[in-house]
Amino acid sequence: MTKLVSIVLPAYNESANIPVIAGRIQDVFKTLNYKYEMIFVNDGSRDNSQDVLVELHNSNPNINYIELSRNFGHQNALKAGLDMANGDCVISMDCDLQHPPELIVEFLAKWEEGYEVVYSLRQESKDLSQFKRKTSNLFYALINRMSEIHIEPGSADFRLLDRKVATVFSSLSENEPFIRGLIKWLGFKQYAITYDPAKRFAGESNYTVKKMFRFAMQGLTSFSIRPLYSAIYLGFIFSFLSLSYIPYVVYSLWVHKEVQGWASMLMTIVFFGGIQLIILGIIGIYIGKLFIQSKQRPNYIISNSSITK
Ligand code: UDP
Ligand code: MG
Repeated sequence: MTKLVSIVLPAYNESANIPVIAGRIQDVFKTLNYKYEMIFVNDGSRDNSQDVLVELHNSNPNINYIELSRNFGHQNALKAGLDMANGDCVISMDCDLQHPPELIVEFLAKWEEGYEVVYSLRQESKDLSQFKRKTSNLFYALINRMSEIHIEPGSADFRLLDRKVATVFSSLSENEPFIRGLIKWLGFKQYAITYDPAKRFAGESNYTVKKMFRFAMQGLTSFSIRPLYSAIYLGFIFSFLSLSYIPYVVYSLWVHKEVQGWASMLMTIVFFGGIQLIILGIIGIYIGKLFIQSKQRPNYIISNSSITK
């Protein structure tokens, strides 16, 4: 029996890209002996993405859509698609053609070899802005240092999951999921393929610097409580350092009858004020996560869909 491959594509304001990527994926499957279903997840787009999707679905029933009730963010949209996918394997990719659809052939070949997760690593490319490359490398260095999982630099949400893995993944009910970390954490037989990212076809990246920072913080605090220990370490270090200051103060008082240091005093206060706020912030992120998770709200809400599970 021919196997069914699901392709999940989160889309936020991608009306110009959707028909193009759908066409490219169709072309890829013409050369393959698989059935396929595309699942576009319309993540509360403000443009006419939904009309484009309905039209595509009417002309080709293999192209499906899930419309979310509002913008839930890339990771939640991706989860919505993965949850609804019916395929024997599920491939997730971006809509903006940065993830070349032709790589699907390689993904499927590795899957047939028996790998349960085939993920992709973005090759360092000149097209990627210097800033994005630097921040991305810094982020992966941090996350690998701080947590028990190891994520390679250049990891993206362009991967294939076997049905078994997709089912386990869907059973996780984590708020603000950091999917590339979760997949690594799941284990299974994983294989990495490198690729050259293409330029975004139309439109602009939806990840602002602010969103990227939030995403990074989410990732860092999703897999480890190691950042919480930084407070203890810093506390010990500065306590010992301050001990060494006492002899100086005593000596100054003894010999000069006064201790100078208005400037150093001010700097110390400001410095420690900053450190304390950072530590408070870190603790705050964890408390915030507990708060959100305790409400058990769903990751996304579907308002409309052309596919049933
Ligand atoms: N996306 C989404 N919801 C959002 C933001 C983005 O579904 O709130 C989708 C977007 O349509 C694209 C993918 O996620 O298919 C990656 O987004 P983008 O290209 O903006 O990110 P970048 O490639 O710059 O990291
Ligand atoms: Mg992109």
